Amino acid sequence: MKKILVAGAGLAGCTAARLLAEQGHQLTIYEAREHIGGNIYDEKQASGITRQIYGPHIFHTRQQEIWQFVTRFTKMRPFQHRVLSYTQGQLYPFPINRDTICQLYGINLANDEVPAFLEQEVKKAKFDLPAKNFRDAIVSQVGEYLYHCFFENYTAKQWQRDPSELSAEVAGRIPVRANRDGRYFTDRYQGIPLPGYTAMCEKMLDHPQIKVCCKQPYKKGDEQDFDLLIYTGRLDDFFERDEGELSYRSVHFDFQTLDEREYQPAAVVNYPNDYDFTRITEFKHMTGEHSTQTEICLEYPSAEGVPCYVVLNQENLALRERYQAKAKALENAEKVIFLGRLAEYKYYNMDQVIARAIEVCAQI
Ligand code: UDP
Repeated sequence: MKKILVAGAGLAGCTAARLLAEQGHQLTIYEAREHIGGNIYDEKQASGITRQIYGPHIFHTRQQEIWQFVTRFTKMRPFQHRVLSYTQGQLYPFPINRDTICQLYGINLANDEVPAFLEQEVKKAKFDLPAKNFRDAIVSQVGEYLYHCFFENYTAKQWQRDPSELSAEVAGRIPVRANRDGRYFTDRYQGIPLPGYTAMCEKMLDHPQIKVCCKQPYKKGDEQDFDLLIYTGRLDDFFERDEGELSYRSVHFDFQTLDEREYQPAAVVNYPNDYDFTRITEFKHMTGEHSTQTEICLEYPSAEGVPCYVVLNQENLALRERYQAKAKALENAEKVIFLGRLAEYKYYNMDQVIARAIEVCAQI
């Protein structure tokens, strides 16, 4: 039985703590913020609707094992996420599918005609293959016009970088569909925790061998009294940024309570080309909560604030490698485990964080 310190009570920290407590270890969690849950933290408002304080989170996974794990701690509301994108003064289904193409070009296509149509668009475009960056990865699938309408400006706004500087891996998050499937994700299991993500995390931490200390930021050396540290904070912070600073992007969330039943026709509407915000979320679509009011959130990408995203460009990927070599040495010495989006510097989804926690905890 080990005494283990977990730095950070986000999804990575909560999952690891729970799994390790169930293995018989003694867990202490240090969390800098005054709440648990990290960036999946949510709060019910006076309107009766739950805001996700750090932006929209939809749980989705292909893996039954992961779904079974989360549903031990929460009931899930079945929810299939749909996103609309506002471009050229109209709302379109996003990711791009047959309907998006037909609506934008004012044409009729059958599913089996879509690939040939896109091929024509792609033929007119300039790009390098294999695609080494975000721009080429998208343009090589849909051509320059669709890229311009839906991706170019959203990506520049979100990352404050030219899309050709970003890794093609980011483009891999967004499919292009020849059919009429209008869902954002096609994973077998999708949902929103019925009582919210915070309640889900509370249940995960509700174990006699887990002690949680909020408003207690991890400091170097805190692990001295423990056998092992699970670190889920910023990778560069752990090493006092001695190799240089990794970029993490943040978001300024502008929450509004509106005296209307419904603001927009979907949970999320993206605004690639207009305004300074990237998207608006209307939470009641996701949570299924009823109210005469509604809660919305506008997202303004920012370099300052709580880290939300890793920035996958060449510079950061090279820096990540240098930090990872140091991290590996500590992991091999069985002193520290680096876990989660911030500590591994990976653009993980929630289910990937859980999968990773299951994997590393099984080795302890
Ligand atoms: N993206 C885009 N246009 C959109 C939506 C996404 O160009 O309408 C690009 C953008 O670079 C974004 C990336 O695809 O950062 C990943 O999108 P995703 O929806 O996965 O972002 P998240 O929900 O993680 O913010």
